[in-house]
Amino acid sequence: MNDRKELIKLKCDMLVNGVRLNELRNDLTESQGWEKERAVNFLPAEIKIGNDVFVQVRENPDANFRIRISGKDLVIENKVNDVISSGEFVSLPPFSKSYTNDLTPFEKIVVYNGICNLNFTWNYYCDYFRTGTECRFCNLTPAQDFYPEENISNARKTASQVADVIEKAKKYHTDPKSILTRGTPPDKQGLGGTVQILEELSKRFPYKNDRERTKLLMTISPTKNISDVKLLHDLGLHSVSFNFEVFDKGYWKAIVPGKDENIGRDLWEASLIDAVKHFGQGRVFTAMIAGLEPAKTLLEGVHWCCDRGIIPIIVPFSPETGSQFEGFRSPTYKWMFDTHYRAAEIISEKLPFINTSDYWKYDAPICAECFTGGFLFDIIRENAGLKEPHSCCELSHEVIGMNIPESNV
Ligand code: SF4
Repeated sequence: MNDRKELIKLKCDMLVNGVRLNELRNDLTESQGWEKERAVNFLPAEIKIGNDVFVQVRENPDANFRIRISGKDLVIENKVNDVISSGEFVSLPPFSKSYTNDLTPFEKIVVYNGICNLNFTWNYYCDYFRTGTECRFCNLTPAQDFYPEENISNARKTASQVADVIEKAKKYHTDPKSILTRGTPPDKQGLGGTVQILEELSKRFPYKNDRERTKLLMTISPTKNISDVKLLHDLGLHSVSFNFEVFDKGYWKAIVPGKDENIGRDLWEASLIDAVKHFGQGRVFTAMIAGLEPAKTLLEGVHWCCDRGIIPIIVPFSPETGSQFEGFRSPTYKWMFDTHYRAAEIISEKLPFINTSDYWKYDAPICAECFTGGFLFDIIRENAGLKEPHSCCELSHEVIGMNIPESNV
């Protein structure tokens, strides 16, 4: 299959229903000479399917599709063993084994999304877990118990560690994209260490105009002081996402009680609107999770955002281990695809700059290729006829074969 529209549908299915990996593990042992133990524990984080579509791997033994090795190639097969698409593991960028100036390995500071994005989690502590008001879908703090071998700890990344990684990435791409997120700190107020990070970035990478700002998207909570929105911009932040998660006000109270109690819905909305005044259209986002509320209210949220110049990032619901929704199911593939498709149409119609290659090339801090857990931007770009590979931001030109150890797993 090489039709990009069909491959985006395949991505949707793989995100909603997962993918089978057991046969792949057998193939790795039998045809690639892997030790059994290594193969059994093998879990790729992401995979590239045909036509430059990148998708997060969510294992499910009952999934519709499976990853296999056929001859020398990685392929995606359906339930009756037909090959549906080619596949490739995603390589880590060439600098991934580097160290920061304080001799911390990069792998303790950053993970990579797709082939173009540096993803920093400032810390894994969110005080809403302590007060029992955590967002019901979130597993940020409990993830430390479930994935002890992963790079997940409460240790905060310092401003210079973050800047060291970006500085190195800039040797491989003139304009690398980064996302930084964090949990809510114990005092639940203020911008915390985000200020130091922005000061360090501005010092290290001075800019003369908005286009030269270090391409960093912060996905954080607004504070109680709305003037902090302008402060973020004044400190040099490129773009910001204050995530609604759910739009309907009743669901908001039930599903994100900490956000509701501490910041409140009115201030959340006002902060988003204010952000557009400072950052401009195309640089203000809010994530909304598809599958936690009716399509009708979700799409009302999409309209609300677009009417105010805010880009909604629709994320398909994936029940996380350790969250209060652990064990739940996503909506059906059809619901998910149709809802995303409608959202994409609304965004393209109301925010036409999103249909231009200039936006994805020069301005967007995220793109279809690094948003591997969602497919909204794949649809928007496909419908707009945008064909440039990787939104023009690729940290590594290598896409590795299965024998190369440095894979993004
Ligand atoms: S604010 Fe909500 S989504 Fe963010 S880390 Fe805390 S519980 Fe998770």
